[in-house]
Amino acid sequence: MQIFEQIAALRTQIGDWKAQGLSIGFVPTMGNLHDGHLSLVKMARERCDKVVASIFVNPLQFGPNEDFERYPRTFEDDCLKLQLASTDALFYPTVAEMYPHPQTQTRVVVADDITVVFEGATRPGHFDGVATVVSKLFNIVQPDIAIFGQKDFQQFAVIERMVEDLAMPITLIRAPIARDVDGLALSSRNQYLDAKQRQIAPKLYVALHDIAQALSSGNRNFSDLEKAATEQLLREGFNQVDYIRVVDPQTLAPASVDQREFAILAVARLGSTRLLDNILITAA
Ligand code: AMP
Repeated sequence: MQIFEQIAALRTQIGDWKAQGLSIGFVPTMGNLHDGHLSLVKMARERCDKVVASIFVNPLQFGPNEDFERYPRTFEDDCLKLQLASTDALFYPTVAEMYPHPQTQTRVVVADDITVVFEGATRPGHFDGVATVVSKLFNIVQPDIAIFGQKDFQQFAVIERMVEDLAMPITLIRAPIARDVDGLALSSRNQYLDAKQRQIAPKLYVALHDIAQALSSGNRNFSDLEKAATEQLLREGFNQVDYIRVVDPQTLAPASVDQREFAILAVARLGSTRLLDNILITAA
């Protein structure tokens, strides 16, 4: 695996591959890789001739009181994992390489309807940071396909909207959520949990699963289901439920009784750790 810290050098390599007619699959990450990230690399490997991954902890998408400084950085380990997963190139830029004008960086702002709800409501500016870094990475890598996880459901919706609105010539793939054996969605932030919190954490998936089952068996009392799940999670030891909502998977607007596809989105807190999860279902 070749490692590139500079945009120009990566561009030269990608230009060579493109000149040979090879297809490029791209997996952007913030590092601290786990099996969820590697499942994305595997999907890229199966679909493309060359796989490019990136590791960049993007300051633009962190708020002032968030965990940018303490976000886990495990570069050596990550390299080994990417190499074992047959990644061809890793882009590992510095902040200065990505943002030459830190105070006056040009930004990509995706429409409010999907960026100020849910994660955007508690993390103002987060999705502008995501859209900006992803569009810059797309310009650098120029992939044929880019793979993102369903884990960050809203993030995928935002990137999908950006790609459509700006006519970016890239096919997006949404990869299923990789979970631990007890159902907890894999996340770099799970390591912030202490032993007791780690035991409680999988109940978030159980709560989502209960709602999914109710929807599958015809229940459409969305707000009752959401309220019951919230109470259940608080009883089980979560200290806060930011949201648990049944929504339209395309628009993220509240679900209506006549639709068949639902996304159930949730964020709940254990201590200061926010756990994010979702289930996508098609009801009969
Ligand atoms: P991150 O490093 O957290 O920015 O994540 C990089 C990519 O991996 C994003 O597209 C995430 O949605 C995806 N991802 C993170 N966790 C999982 C998971 N448990 N299963 C599948 N994809 C994931």
